[in-house]
Amino acid sequence: MGLVQGFGVTLKQMFRRRVTTEYPREKRPKPVRLHGRHVLNRYEDGMEKCIGCELCAGVCPARCIYVRGADNPPDAPVSPGERYGFVYEINYLRCIHCDLCVEACPTEAITETKLFDFSFTNRDDAIYTKRELLVDDEGRARRQPWELWHGEEDRHTSAWVRATASSGRADYEGRVGWSGELGFGVRAPERGQAAEGEAAGDPGPGEGGA
Ligand code: SF4
Ligand code: SF4
Repeated sequence: MGLVQGFGVTLKQMFRRRVTTEYPREKRPKPVRLHGRHVLNRYEDGMEKCIGCELCAGVCPARCIYVRGADNPPDAPVSPGERYGFVYEINYLRCIHCDLCVEACPTEAITETKLFDFSFTNRDDAIYTKRELLVDDEGRARRQPWELWHGEEDRHTSAWVRATASSGRADYEGRVGWSGELGFGVRAPERGQAAEGEAAGDPGPGEGGA
């Protein structure tokens, strides 16, 4: 009788939904605000968003960001600002993925993907430089051989898109003024915002109120 009961338990389990996944072949969907491996973003025209201000390095509690800014060459500027991030490094042996660097960045240059599966065999690989961090021409993360990416984990990494300053002009009320992002274009309006040209009496950014 005990044997039959035992097989009964096994049989029942076979038809239950599994709560585990076949990691690393499969991964569970990540929460929207998961903090993973960083990327350095670029504008739609390819310019780098980082202006080398070092605020991210200053706020980092783990002291794992190293930034050195430099003046933009007048003939071939790297960013739209006066300066750009000439050297940019994150040491992933120390990063605690707190996201404070992302919060501090005034240009949304540094953001985080959903990737947290990476294993290093040497210290050099763990210290990401601009070569690894800067997004490619499609606006996607440059995937490294020691990282385990699945699908869209680097899609829409930049959830914090800069709103274009209205300079206090009333004409801009109800307008969507996101900056475009390389590979993704201009983000759709959020709830409560009107799309370009939909706001009542919208004069457009280059027209209207002085
Ligand atoms: S996520 Fe936190 S610990 Fe990691 S680099 Fe940014 S500020 Fe530093
Ligand atoms: S990533 Fe942002 S906060 Fe850090 S140096 Fe560049 S612009 Fe400044």
